[in-house]
Amino acid sequence: MKDHETFPIIPIKKGQGIWLEDFDGNRYLDAISSWWVNLFGHANPAINAALKDQLDTLEHVIFAGFTHESAIKLAEKLVEITPEGLNRCFYADNGSAAVEVALKMSFHYWRNRGQTQKTRFITLENSYHGETLGALAVGNVPLYKETYAPLLMDVITVPGPDCYHREPGESWADYSSRRFELMEQALQQHSATVCAVIIEPLVQCAGSMRMYDPVYLKLLREACDNYNVHLIVDEIAVGFGRTGTMFACEQAAISPDFMCLSKGLTGGYLPLSAVLTTDQVYQAFYDEYQNMTAFLHSHSYTGNALACRAGLATIDIFQQQNIIEKNKALAEIMANTALRFHNHPQVAEVRQTGMILAIELVKNKHTREPFPWQERRGLKVYQYALSKGVLLRPLGNVIYFMPPYIVTEDELLLIAEVAEQGIQYAIKD
Ligand SMILES: *Cc1c(COP(=O)(O)O)cnc(C)c1O
Repeated sequence: MKDHETFPIIPIKKGQGIWLEDFDGNRYLDAISSWWVNLFGHANPAINAALKDQLDTLEHVIFAGFTHESAIKLAEKLVEITPEGLNRCFYADNGSAAVEVALKMSFHYWRNRGQTQKTRFITLENSYHGETLGALAVGNVPLYKETYAPLLMDVITVPGPDCYHREPGESWADYSSRRFELMEQALQQHSATVCAVIIEPLVQCAGSMRMYDPVYLKLLREACDNYNVHLIVDEIAVGFGRTGTMFACEQAAISPDFMCLSKGLTGGYLPLSAVLTTDQVYQAFYDEYQNMTAFLHSHSYTGNALACRAGLATIDIFQQQNIIEKNKALAEIMANTALRFHNHPQVAEVRQTGMILAIELVKNKHTREPFPWQERRGLKVYQYALSKGVLLRPLGNVIYFMPPYIVTEDELLLIAEVAEQGIQYAIKD
């Protein structure tokens, strides 16, 4: 709040397509999809029309003992478009809640199967899974976690496959496979007491948009099977086309035991999340009431009708407009607009996975010594870009582009130009 004494919060009057407009008539290009949720622009005509119809039919209904058309149709769609074997859908109302559901369900599965010694989770260094206490516990970004450490369950944290740390000349695939040895060791040592490994596939978004090769997911799927441990894949940020495929898991041709979805699920309209899981998991809870094996986890707004309808309208756009295929061209244009950063003296790396592109600012390109965080260089990029009508919101010293899929070539160029000027402004002293 103290920052905002000098840089006031911007009240937004309206949104249209990729643009936001404030009360003074200034416009901002939403280059980060309003925190990675917006896929097809603000006030999207198709989603708006679906929501208006839903609003006149049913806004919400208790989701216990009752259900409704949009919830059923969305669950069926999610089962259809997610990897094979994910046949069951559980709704919650935000990403962190989905992570809590997956953790509880995995633990409870083993308990219902008599494996009560399984009580722990394996997570990756630099991971992020949300900010409620369970989700925070399985995350590893110190900025969010450290303060609350005394409140959090104990987890097993394994060094990650983040390819920023690969040796010069080493491929992403080689580095990611090599780093998998550490995961294998952790599984070997702890699998008897471990419920699940939880992972963000391909891109650790909140962890500075660090990326790795799909081979890691392939190896992890095999190892989880070998060691009798669940695989929870958190596609909350990367799902719905962000990595170039509908779901990141597809690039490794794997199916997890649990897949968490939120963010893009409603096209950025309304809070909703879903945990997809297998028949095998479902069956472990399916029993007589007296046996008390049911999964108890409810939120007041679980399966909200408006949110489910927005989800359906969003998936319709993907299917009717062949978005995944069209995004390939957009991703290539984005790569081209970012060529200017490769030889920049303060850029250690430009990395991209599909519709996510990140630029790592450093003090020294050769040693990769970072700028001290206290200097808040990324914040200066943010402030500069806003003054030029582009909403970028760097993660520390990592500038990234994660635009809605309706972005045009000219807009991508504008984003890159403003980012380049913003970087010059941020590093000038
Ligand atoms: C945003 C995010 C979450 C948390 O979702 P919320 O809706 O913000 O609670 C969890 N995991 C990942 C990978 C995310 O990016």
